[in-house]
Formats: sequence, C-alpha cells, structure tokens
Amino acid sequence: MSNQAIIDKGQQYVMNTYGRSPIALVKGQGSWAWDAEGKRYLDFMGGIAVCALGHAHPELTAVLREQGARLWHCSNIYWNQPQVELAEKLCSATGMDKAFFANSGAEVNEGAIKLARKYFYRRGENRYQIIAFNNSFHGRTTGALALTGQTKYQQGFEPLLPGIEYAEFNNLASVEALISDETCAVMVEPVQGEGGINPASPSFMQGLRDLCSKEGILLILDEVQTGLGRTGKMMAFQHYNIRPDIVTLAKALGGGFPVGALLTTNEVATGFAPGDHASTFGGNPLACAVGSKMIEILSAPSFLKQVGEVSSYLKGKLEAIARKDERAIAVKGMGLLLGIEFSVEVKELVDICLGNGLLLISAGPKVLRFVPPLNITSTEVDHALGILEQSLASWGRTP
Ligand code: PLP
Repeated sequence: MSNQAIIDKGQQYVMNTYGRSPIALVKGQGSWAWDAEGKRYLDFMGGIAVCALGHAHPELTAVLREQGARLWHCSNIYWNQPQVELAEKLCSATGMDKAFFANSGAEVNEGAIKLARKYFYRRGENRYQIIAFNNSFHGRTTGALALTGQTKYQQGFEPLLPGIEYAEFNNLASVEALISDETCAVMVEPVQGEGGINPASPSFMQGLRDLCSKEGILLILDEVQTGLGRTGKMMAFQHYNIRPDIVTLAKALGGGFPVGALLTTNEVATGFAPGDHASTFGGNPLACAVGSKMIEILSAPSFLKQVGEVSSYLKGKLEAIARKDERAIAVKGMGLLLGIEFSVEVKELVDICLGNGLLLISAGPKVLRFVPPLNITSTEVDHALGILEQSLASWGRTP
C-alpha cells in the first residue's frame, strides 16, 4: 500500500484524534525508519522518546521472540518471573524499593494519584490535594489530565478530578503558598517535556524535596519522558541528588513495547493493599522481559557515558546552528532531551525536515525537540544536522 492509500483508509476507519504527518512508517532499523514507499528517514523523535535503543534492536527483538514463544500473559492473580525480575532491576538501578506495573505513562500517573491519597487515608489523615505545575504534561486520562497544567488539553472535559492545584514551575514560594492540611503530594517533571523542554533548577528540585519532607507530604516525580538514561543519568532525579517518594516511568522502558512502572519506597508502598489498585495487562511477561533487557543494556558501565558524550556533541552543534539563525532564541535541555526554542512556531520547519528525511517533533509550538535514540552515533548526528541546516535555509522562504 502507498502512504496515501494507508492515509485514506485511516481517515475512513480510525478516529481523528491525532494531527498526523502524511506518511506511514512500515519499517525501522536502528536510528532509521522507512515509509510505505521506501523513503528512508533519520529518526530523531523516536516515537517521542520511546525508542531509546532505536528500532528493532537485536537484543530486544530476541527477548521478545523468546518470551513470546513461552508465555505472553499471566494474570496478576499469579506471580510471573519476568515481572519480579524487572522490579528487582528497576529498584537496583534507581534506588527505589518497590514497583507497580501498568501499560502507559498516563496509567502509572493515575496510580500515583491513587497511591498518594490512599497512603494518607490509611494513616487516618484527610489529605487528597495534589500540587502540580503550570505548563506540565502528565497524560490524557482524566486524572492525569487534571494534573496537566495546560488548559488547551483540558477544555471540554470538565469537571476535572477535584483536589488539584497548580504552582509555578521553578518557583518554590508558589508551591509553599498552596500547601494546606489537605495536601498529600507535589507532582513534577524534572524536565518539562511537552511543555517546552524546561529543566527544573537544582535549587528548585532540592527545595521541593526539603519542603515535602518538612511538611510530611509526598514528592512524586513524573519521569515518563526523562527516565531511563534520557537525561544522561539513569534517572533525572539523580542529577539533583534527591530521592522521590514515588516516581513514574513508561516511554523508554519497553523501547517501544507498551509498559509503564510506578516505583516507590517501602514506606509509601504500604498505602496499597490487595484490591486497591490493578491492571489486567500490567506487568505481563512479554512487556517485562523486554523491559528487563532494556534495563540491562542501559546499566552497562559505558552506556550512559556514551549518552553524555553524544549529548555534548549534539548540544554544541545545536548551539552553533542556533547562533546562525536569527529566529533561534536558545538551546535547552539535558542529555538527549534537547530543544531549540524559536521566536516563531516550528510546525512548518518540522514538515520541511520530514520532507528532507529527518523525523523531528515540537515541544509546545515554538520548541524544536531532539529525542534521538540513546545509542545514536556522532555520524548520525552529523547527518541529521546537515538536514536541519538545509531545512532551516528554506524555512519561511517557501512560496
Ligand atoms: N508524562 C509525561 C512527562 C509525558 O511526557 C507523557 C507523554 O508524553 C505522559 C506522561 C503520558 O504518557 P502516555 O502517553 O504513555 O500515557
């Protein structure tokens, strides 16, 4: 089928919830993807920070095949070995104590809301309010949407989950001002991803940790986008030398296979007892076998060092490109979660890059986001930036 034939059928049968680019991807290998007509693209959006090892990584593919031939599904009524092993690996890689598994970022964030509230309920405390942030993004399910401090995503879905307040990102005083006797948690992304690649400052993040500890409330980190090597450390919170009470993961965990995890401490884990929370597919053997292999690969001693090196290389080159373009304001981000902020909207630039063979995505209207595979090579970076420069030259100048 051609790209257009797939699009035509999709428009007839698939609900219209995504603003899609006019290609259909049919194959991926490493940092490259191919459309239905055989055109090749360098993939610097990687399923929006999902394909952390690129496409069709041989070790992930092998483990998926192997587990697929053994056991796909196992109800959580029973134990399954891949789930237990992934939980152990995640805890040892992150310094957390216990895991709950689900299938997506929004779903683990729902779990975080429930866990925070139930933890205090079990202690006989009426604490239900969660402080989130303006410009945040936590997902599209109704609870996660209520945490997402951007009205454009919320409009038309009210009334939203009650008990959510929004503070200013990187402004500790604005959080302090919202804390009340009903507050159970503060929820924050270490780097606001969809909100435009805005890193939390060290003093803000450490201040939040201290404030939550002082007030006896929980610090929940949404590391759905930042977690698992994306910022150059296994977890973004490790840059700040803090330990959250709850942290959520998804995107990179399965390298493209759907899986999410909520990690917490032994203390906070007591908030849930059997029957309090569940997910039929959560922690299934297929997803967990892939997740385990992913953590194994990311944990190899040289892996994150390499991410750091390629990140510095890419960032330096982006800064040089930004200096030459009068529309560019700044290069932002950490590790391989980077963005160029422009003074104008970047949608047309994304489309031009696509036409020239480079897959990119924006983060908010004016930030061009770079979330390539973590194992991207400097040669591939050079190739991508060649296309970017060529695209910048024609951006805004097309008839
Ligand atoms: N949290 C963050 C920080 C995200 O970036 C996203 C998705 O972009 C989500 C949550 C939602 O994840 P999902 O689309 O898997 O539900």
